[in-house]
Amino acid sequence: LEAKEEFRHKTLATDVMRPRRSDPPLSVLTQSGMTVEEVERLIADTTYSGFPVVISQLSQRLVGFVLRRDLFISLENARRHQDGVVSVSAVLFTECESPASPGAPPAVKLRSILDLSPFTVTVHTPMEIVVDIFRKLGLRQCLVIQNGRLLGIITKKDILKHMAQMANRDPESILFN
Ligand code: ADP
Repeated sequence: LEAKEEFRHKTLATDVMRPRRSDPPLSVLTQSGMTVEEVERLIADTTYSGFPVVISQLSQRLVGFVLRRDLFISLENARRHQDGVVSVSAVLFTECESPASPGAPPAVKLRSILDLSPFTVTVHTPMEIVVDIFRKLGLRQCLVIQNGRLLGIITKKDILKHMAQMANRDPESILFN
């Protein structure tokens, strides 16, 4: 990630983040309320390298970020080695255990694989700054927040793609951007 010139044109995080308006919504996990089966389906139906974890679908308040690989391995391990874990077992990223309903199968607790401080920017953060932070911290992705709500994600590849697009535009359009 070099060439910062392309970003001297007031490109903001909101211009680069995914999903785009026409895309399906961000694939997120909730910190509680999902089953092993539901999380496995999300992994199977998508190819994303990771998933933001939110308090609830309604609040979209960010709790952390979990890597697809860690999620996959942990669920596989739980299925194999944790007694009583079944498809309808709860998956919990919460700190304290919410009281399980009597007779419910044991929950799979995954807080330990959660990155509790994923890097975040706001929709208004200039991309010049975002790129700088990606380079300095060696980030793979960062999350985009507005008013406490998770709105999007920017990966290193998203930035590189955006840079390539900007470079391909004719100089005049860049000038007046
Ligand atoms: P890469 O950008 O390196 O291919 P990913 O496979 O994780 O990394 O992401 C592919 C695309 O999907 C990127 O444009 C990224 O912004 C977007 N994306 C990443 N994670 C999610 C997610 N959980 N939900 C929706 N879109 C995502």
